[in-house]
Amino acid sequence: MDVIVADNAGFCFGVKRAIKMANETLDGAEGQVQALGPLIHNPQVVGSFQKRGLRVAESLEDITPGATVVIRSHGVGPSVKEGVEAKGLKVVDTTCPFVTKAQWYAAKLIEDGYKVVVIGDAKHPEVVGIVAHTGGKAIVLNTIAEAEALKFIGRLGVVFQTTHSILHVQEVVGALLKRSKEVRVFNTLCGATTAMQKTAVELAPDVDAMVIVGGRLSANTAQLAEVCRKVNDRVVQIESAAELDPAWFAGVRRVGVSAGASTPDEVIAEVVDRLTQMEPAATTA
Ligand code: SF4
Repeated sequence: MDVIVADNAGFCFGVKRAIKMANETLDGAEGQVQALGPLIHNPQVVGSFQKRGLRVAESLEDITPGATVVIRSHGVGPSVKEGVEAKGLKVVDTTCPFVTKAQWYAAKLIEDGYKVVVIGDAKHPEVVGIVAHTGGKAIVLNTIAEAEALKFIGRLGVVFQTTHSILHVQEVVGALLKRSKEVRVFNTLCGATTAMQKTAVELAPDVDAMVIVGGRLSANTAQLAEVCRKVNDRVVQIESAAELDPAWFAGVRRVGVSAGASTPDEVIAEVVDRLTQMEPAATTA
């Protein structure tokens, strides 16, 4: 099959930065190094860091005394940072600057007297961290129906999970406009994700099928697949080349590939290799 890889596929600036900082910390560490939650949402990357000795701790209580704590790119709430400091632990904070900005805007909106709405997935660690920066006062919603169900609020302040699509947040903000007299919106979408979605959506209508590569828990990978589904019916999301099933590609001659922000280049290359090797005859319906 012919395989076309979309521009901007794979590692974003924030993930590259987090990986670099974690590697430098492991290189120079004398004691244990532990990450608060998986460093990024990619099992291959997390696995290779574990081999280098980076342990994943689920909470502050799991941190070994004296360890260096790596805060992941999704960020954490203020109380977690205070807890780390109170324990006297060394901290390496890899929070992506785009996420820091979203946390800052959410806190500022609360300070200025707005009821804050975060458009995002309430369970995602980035959103949990943003909400914590509002002292737990923010409402999290993710759909037009949820926005429409909101009771009328005088002053609404809105921020977005950084990896959402512009189209989605525009729709939800549109619904919020009917629920308040004043809606103040900070565009906290990340430029890297927006560029990645744009190039994938431009490619998707020109190919017979799209393959989106990335961790199953990666929000930006799921969004990437979602935006491509709006312009191409045949979109599959996989974590690695091993999941590629020739049966999915019946009749496909040209396939597009894009990848979430935490997908390593070698994983994308394996997917491209495997797709390229699929004989057109084997993919005929
Ligand atoms: S996807 Fe965007 S917000 Fe997330 S780590 Fe990458 S650059 Fe930062």
